[in-house]
Amino acid sequence: MRPAQSLRPASYVCPLCDGMLHATSAHALLAPEGDVSKRRHAHMDCVVAARRRGELPTEDEFRKSEKRRRGR
Ligand SMILES: [Zn+2]
Repeated sequence: MRPAQSLRPASYVCPLCDGMLHATSAHALLAPEGDVSKRRHAHMDCVVAARRRGELPTEDEFRKSEKRRRGR
């Protein structure tokens, strides 16, 4: 018998502060350049702070800016 994967404690390194992030704590998934295969786990607090600085577009915002760039 083995514990299910979802119950296994995992930890990640937050790309925004380089701090440890526990899988059970509040966090968000980031997809650099819209590539979900490169997705990273980041602290929710770090994501909120980065968005306040205007550094982290949501997926919708990213798609809109991509379209604008291609249109030119
Ligand atoms: Zn962080």
